[in-house]
Amino acid sequence: MAGLLERLQKDVVLGAEGYLFELERRGYLKAGAYVPEVVIEHPNAVAELHREFLRAGAEVMVAFTYYGHRAKMRAIGREGDLERLNRDAVRLAKSVANEGGALVAGNVCNTWEYDPQKPEESEQVVRPMFEEQVQWACEEGADFFIAETFNHLGEALIALDVIKQTGLPAMVTFAAKNETSYDDQPWEDACKILEDHGADVVGLNCSRGPDLMLELIERIRPKVSCYVAAQPVPYHTTHEQPYFQVLTDPHGNRAFPVALDPFLHTRFEMADFARRARDIGVNYIGICCGGAPHHVRAMAEALGRTVPASAYSPDLSLHPVLGAKAETKAKVQRHLQDFDLKQQS
Ligand SMILES: [Zn+2]
Repeated sequence: MAGLLERLQKDVVLGAEGYLFELERRGYLKAGAYVPEVVIEHPNAVAELHREFLRAGAEVMVAFTYYGHRAKMRAIGREGDLERLNRDAVRLAKSVANEGGALVAGNVCNTWEYDPQKPEESEQVVRPMFEEQVQWACEEGADFFIAETFNHLGEALIALDVIKQTGLPAMVTFAAKNETSYDDQPWEDACKILEDHGADVVGLNCSRGPDLMLELIERIRPKVSCYVAAQPVPYHTTHEQPYFQVLTDPHGNRAFPVALDPFLHTRFEMADFARRARDIGVNYIGICCGGAPHHVRAMAEALGRTVPASAYSPDLSLHPVLGAKAETKAKVQRHLQDFDLKQQS
């Protein structure tokens, strides 16, 4: 089976993330702590979401170890389950990946323990956290690693170094809130430094919606010669509110993280994102928090693919009122007012 780099060489690789948010919406994960205990408590729910993304065209099953690191597990009093959670997550991803020839990504993320004022000291805390997660994922058969949502270049470089030592491909992406990283690097420079340190794929994920993310990607793309990834959140962010953590509703209430629904992009808007990302040379196209299988299927189809879930893609010509068949329309004439189509009929 082709690995990540072989696939990227040939074509765009379609990814899918957003496990925390989607499993929270489904009632399997607590917003706030955002720890993936669901891997242990309800493994079938995790496997099912993997499967839905797979059917929607995702080529990578990302092991659900996001925020499954030692500091987070300690914070909820479950440090004892750390290794089990990490190993089980990779096994779950692998079992579903095998159903459809997908790759398995080991996953690490920002730890919230990195302090740019004390880089050496905090590396002593952060590095072992990455090392254990990466080792477990390796032993369980991860094909490559995604290290993501970094705000600090310094922390991303530590994760990259740990991953490089496995010999597996490394994709490292930042969560770009402001114009620079928290350690003051413009994102295109931060990505170039990652490339110079051996990252195979660099780019951005989370925080920004598609439009705001692509603005930064357009600066990153010409700056690096390695592969580029873009996995935005499917929410309408703006220049005034460029990342979803600061979105506010018309009453001024913060929408993040559990009242974001009014800002959600449609599948068609995410399909448009996939096309635009491909056209500016993004190699790994995906989606992050808020993303759901219907988005991913639309993105896959926008890239010209027919995926298992395409069997159920919309066909509104079959709709009793909106559809094209005149005899059907006549039959439901009396209902047309429900759709405000009376005048047109
Ligand atoms: Zn995210």
